[in-house]
Amino acid sequence: MKRKRILVTGGAGFIGSHLCEKLLEQGNDVICMDNLFTGQKDNIRHLMSNSYFEFIRKDILEDIYVECDQIYNLACPASPVYYQYDPIKTGKTNVIGALHALGLAKRCHARILQASTSEVYGDPQMHPQPESYRGYVNPIGIRSCYDEGKRMVETLFFDYHRQHDVDIKVIRIFNTYGARMRLDDGRVISNFIVQALKGDDITIYGDGKQTRSFCYIDDLVEGMTRMMNSKSGFTGPVNIGNPGEFTMVELAGLIINLTGSKSRIVYKPLPQDDPMQRKPDIELAKQNLGWEPTVSLEEGLKKTIKYFANKLREENELTIP
Ligand code: NAD
Ligand code: UDP
Repeated sequence: MKRKRILVTGGAGFIGSHLCEKLLEQGNDVICMDNLFTGQKDNIRHLMSNSYFEFIRKDILEDIYVECDQIYNLACPASPVYYQYDPIKTGKTNVIGALHALGLAKRCHARILQASTSEVYGDPQMHPQPESYRGYVNPIGIRSCYDEGKRMVETLFFDYHRQHDVDIKVIRIFNTYGARMRLDDGRVISNFIVQALKGDDITIYGDGKQTRSFCYIDDLVEGMTRMMNSKSGFTGPVNIGNPGEFTMVELAGLIINLTGSKSRIVYKPLPQDDPMQRKPDIELAKQNLGWEPTVSLEEGLKKTIKYFANKLREENELTIP
């Protein structure tokens, strides 16, 4: 196999670091670009000694000048807590970041994959969500910087494809979890696991009857690389997610059981525009990529709990032995 030079923006984040690792394992030359807003050097420390791995600390709002064959564009905070911290910056990161990445793809004739999201479906009125569903999104709410930002990114990708013949691939990622999420990430799986392991109250927002479908990181990364290397002309968008659907009450129960925690469940207000249900239709991924998830929620949670327990032990914050 010819060694490809691959740029991963947002490569020091949760998903990006696993992707860089896999691309290196496959024998590629990887450039990881990240401003470390939510990403962490710890996520990529083990890759630093590999001479085919290069880390560039840089904001995607700056021009990018590298040479590459493929680009995975992941730069953007994904947790509501972080993307709402500076929503204007989140909008810029999405739109200006995509323009920079697409401009680079055009100049280098590189294939480019966008990490889009199930959030483009908003609070979906159709269930499960196929790629043909156009979504139900509030354009002026607190989640809009992310949801509408990603929708605009998809538009830019398809316009660069039509206008400049850029070789694009778009995946819509559904809630993904696993090792290397931050302890203070704020998303539900990391919150519940950290709370359970520390013996703190488990915070369910709303009545906990809202649903999500959770995909384990290894399955996602397999789907991403399959999409990047899929037949030319298959642009997507394609859903990548695990169709297993769980309420937040069910998730909390599962995590309490798996950790053996004595934590209590407490109920907090539901944030504005929090989607009530989410579940991917993955027929397109099955047909075009031969992909479907292989890791059950219970199996993935066990591995993730192990990771967080080690992290908390390092910080002397583990309550459960
Ligand atoms: P993450 O926050 O761990 O990773 C995002 C990375 O982008 C971080 O390393 C961060 O420092 C970097 N970044 C943010 N703004 C940047 C900027 N302006 N310039 C350069 N780097 C910047 O989140 P993640 O879960 O790994 O998500 C990665 C991508 O996948 C994101 O684009 C996200 O929207 C998308 N996605 C993730 C999920 C999920 O469930 N994890 C779901 C749908 C879509
Ligand atoms: N959630 C929760 N408790 C938490 C964090 C999140 O009940 O401590 C809920 C949140 O309101 C949402 C679901 O879990 O309904 C998933 O939230 P997350 O932030 O992980 O992802 P997203 O809403 O972007 O899918």
